[in-house]
Amino acid sequence: PARGELILQLNAVTKRFGGLVANNAISFEVRAGEVLALIGPNGAGKSTLFNCISAVSPPSSGSIRFLGKPVERCDSRKVARMGMSRTFQHVRLLPRMSVLDNVALGAHLRGRHSFVASAWRLDRAQEQRILATARDALERCGLCEKAHLPAGSLPLGQQRVVEIARALAADPSLLLLDEPAAGLRYLEKRELGILLGRLRKEGLAILLVEHDLDFVMELADRVVVMDFGEKIAEGLPQEIRRHPAVIEAYLGG
Ligand code: ADP
Ligand code: MG
Repeated sequence: PARGELILQLNAVTKRFGGLVANNAISFEVRAGEVLALIGPNGAGKSTLFNCISAVSPPSSGSIRFLGKPVERCDSRKVARMGMSRTFQHVRLLPRMSVLDNVALGAHLRGRHSFVASAWRLDRAQEQRILATARDALERCGLCEKAHLPAGSLPLGQQRVVEIARALAADPSLLLLDEPAAGLRYLEKRELGILLGRLRKEGLAILLVEHDLDFVMELADRVVVMDFGEKIAEGLPQEIRRHPAVIEAYLGG
């Protein structure tokens, strides 16, 4: 997609769990070449919204358009094949598998052949293509030297980057990152910020949930603030810092 092109469009997305309204009529857009940060206190409904967007769990009402197509009734594999990749709040790598094989799992998402066929080497050409895609993704993330180490042996900061590489291996136009900087040390956060800035420059649209406000303010082009399932503010980072409702709900403590 060209820079500035509309990638993701939420219109009045609502998600209920019984009587609890976890997301109430949330609307916003994400464009190519932009980092949009979703912030808000624990329980605000950020992960729930990610699950709606990535079709892990459909919204109760409202519409979600990805690349112009409605996806709110699609299943998550279909949405992933359309070019939406995500990471989860907690690291989900296979710790004893190599970094390269973990990333290759992401490349399989877009392949026509089944994972089982490739895993059993029924199609060597396909397997070689997938490994090449995985190596490219690792190179984009600066992790080539770690390709053959068990993923679980890496420090947390690098494990999170491996997850991003796995997401990139599916050749997405939208990346959804749920708290990618959580638990990282200062330098790891800085490196993650540089990586995400580079991906944005390549034209990716990035939607991320993040608690570290300094990280958000430095990286994000726009910020959406949620509290108790509601979108309470949206704007440029410098606007959000000064927003009274934000200061009260999120920065006040
Ligand atoms: P955040 O990611 O902003 O911390 P969540 O989206 O995880 O918030 O949670 C929002 C609210 O929805 C919380 O009150 C949480 O308990 C509730 N919730 C999340 N998932 C479920 C579920 N599967 N069933 C019932 N309630 C849920
Ligand atoms: Mg969450």
